[in-house]
Amino acid sequence: KHIAELIAAGEVVERPSSVIKELVENSIDAGAKNITVEIKNGGTTFMRVADDGCGIYRDDIKKAFLRHATSKVKTANDLDMISTLGFRGEALASISAVSRLQVITKNENEEIGSCYEIEGGDEISLEDAGCPTGTTFVIRDLFYNIPARSKFLKKDVAEGNAVSALMDKIVLSHPEVAFTFIRDGKQVLRTFGDGKLLSAIYSVFGKDFAKGLIPVDYTLDSVTVKGYISKPINSRPNRNMQNFFINGRFVKTRTGMAALEEAYKGSIMVGKFPSAVLQLTVPYGIIDVNVHPAKIEVRFINERPVFDAIYHAVKTALQQGDE
Ligand code: ADP
Ligand code: MG
Repeated sequence: KHIAELIAAGEVVERPSSVIKELVENSIDAGAKNITVEIKNGGTTFMRVADDGCGIYRDDIKKAFLRHATSKVKTANDLDMISTLGFRGEALASISAVSRLQVITKNENEEIGSCYEIEGGDEISLEDAGCPTGTTFVIRDLFYNIPARSKFLKKDVAEGNAVSALMDKIVLSHPEVAFTFIRDGKQVLRTFGDGKLLSAIYSVFGKDFAKGLIPVDYTLDSVTVKGYISKPINSRPNRNMQNFFINGRFVKTRTGMAALEEAYKGSIMVGKFPSAVLQLTVPYGIIDVNVHPAKIEVRFINERPVFDAIYHAVKTALQQGDE
């Protein structure tokens, strides 16, 4: 039983950034307005995610750590139109199987909070805790019980950089949430949750980047494309700054990149690439989110409407940017 658990856990938890991704998505699902993420040594020895979301009732805590125990999918039909970020109900089970985990949480309707500790999947304690409404996870010593796995971790700097890159994407996909990111004791990212994408872009990429952007706001049939693109003169030697979000989730999409670049054809030099931060709203029926456990690569059941919407959105914005 234990081995099977560890293998399953390894599918969800690859490295510190995968832990942070799952925990922050849970915080967002819980309606948090403020989320603090802290890591030490790239996250390998210490990760903390604190939120002011709804919290977890004492009676539900142990349940939350059972595999496939999710409070988010109620019927089979829900699976077709997932609106919350998490839906597989295996993050907490997996993370707690391969680390030393502590959660301190209180639901708004409870007087007193709870502190639950679990190490390598084994329960240590469940006690009262005085804490505000919300949830704080502390994860220590990731993969301490699977040395074979910890050998695959990169240097702390590289793992920390992966967490930083992830935080950038999360922050950009949720301008309505105030984020603080602390790395080895230093605050490295801070947003204010004013709901404006441009504010989030400013926090992540700096004011020089944020100044030279053209706004995009376009709807074609059922696909909406909103966000910002770079002026043609600010093109780059690579595609690193092409950011796409679909229904609130950061994704890799070849269709999106192709449509973006097609729209810039003729206005930038061959071998140069546009930058973009584009939020797509797409009907749940035309995306297949259930492709990869990490849910990064998105597949479209029908690519055409997505390609066309992005292409025309960018074309239109570029023309207006010219006037
Ligand atoms: P999933 O997110 O797919 O439901 P998880 O294993 O990530 O599965 O979480 C299990 C359950 O724990 C969630 O369904 C939710 O009820 C609860 N939970 C986890 N994190 C939080 C949080 N930060 N605030 C409130 N509830 C949480
Ligand atoms: Mg989850």
